[in-house]
Amino acid sequence: MSTEKNLAGAVLTIDLDAVADNYRTILKKMNGVPSAAVVKADGYGLGAEKVGPALAAAGCTIFFVAHINEGIGLRAVLPDADIHILNGLLPGTEATFREHRLVPVLGSLDEIDAWSAYGPLPCDIHVDTGMLRLGLPPAELATLVDDPGRLAGLDIRLVMSHLASADEAGSDQNAIQLAKFQQARQTLAMGSTCFANSSGVFLGSDYHFDLARPGVALYGVNPTPAGPNPMTGTITLKARILQVRDAQPGETVGYGAAFGVNKTSKIATLPVGYADGFLRSLSNAGQGMIDGIPVPLVGRVSMDLITLDVTAVPDAQRQPGQWVELIGAANPVDAVADAAGTIGYEILTSLGARYHRVYTGAGA
Ligand SMILES: *Cc1c(COP(=O)(O)O)cnc(C)c1O
Repeated sequence: MSTEKNLAGAVLTIDLDAVADNYRTILKKMNGVPSAAVVKADGYGLGAEKVGPALAAAGCTIFFVAHINEGIGLRAVLPDADIHILNGLLPGTEATFREHRLVPVLGSLDEIDAWSAYGPLPCDIHVDTGMLRLGLPPAELATLVDDPGRLAGLDIRLVMSHLASADEAGSDQNAIQLAKFQQARQTLAMGSTCFANSSGVFLGSDYHFDLARPGVALYGVNPTPAGPNPMTGTITLKARILQVRDAQPGETVGYGAAFGVNKTSKIATLPVGYADGFLRSLSNAGQGMIDGIPVPLVGRVSMDLITLDVTAVPDAQRQPGQWVELIGAANPVDAVADAAGTIGYEILTSLGARYHRVYTGAGA
């Protein structure tokens, strides 16, 4: 893949200043309570090796990733940060955790026993309050209550849990999980508490505890989907027109003849496809923008190409080489996600490796 921007058919621009701004917006909302940053899945697709240091420069000292390998990668660019591994302690990985000074989020009695046998090293305890995914289930928490000696060999940094429905502020599940977490905290009265993801930060100060743990909001996705987005967009995806074709009623566009032309039209082809993480579910649903004019995606998204109806655009702005915004201020990630029938998380974490990436802002 060429790295020359002037050869690129599609450019993904990532604004590190916007990521730092979003971190400060979270801190403001936390009103004096600190915040970690979740940079799993390569910083939600934006590049953990770039967003990690940008967040550290904005004052963040505690980072979460999912996999131990992500932690090793982050350690290389953040030598002094606290790096926590959400997926916990896979059997046999203890030495790797110690070597890279990674903190496992322990989520079962087995993990707790294995880590305490290994030595008094930093760890977190994850309590399940209603996701049935990771974390101590109620029965294992009860076992710990009866046998607190099992925690004696641990250096517990955080006691944490994870909200299942924080993006639905009206969901009863939020208060139920909050009560369960408060109760678990009575039992596990060591270390600091950590509860709120991005949306949890916006549920009010009851949800803040000692440390927030946001991810997606840092990257510009709306953590309060029922209302306006308090965050700043961080990415712009632009691609260039390769070719423009005349289309007549009765003709069809692309694979499966999935779009039927019903008026004399101009169809532009752009070099972006599902191999770039431009989701196939945007077929006949997405849109681009040319100088503020919406240009609907017509036909199927194919592996390397999409087709847009540019009939509404003046001739001069639909020539080969013309840049078309596919994600950006006028077409934010949340809108693209809606059109694709998914969530902003999936749009970001699908952003492909084939785009020519440009970082802007401090630390770029
Ligand atoms: C991914 C994740 C987060 C961050 O969630 P966002 O909704 O992206 O803010 C926090 N905690 C856990 C356990 C996670 O898996």
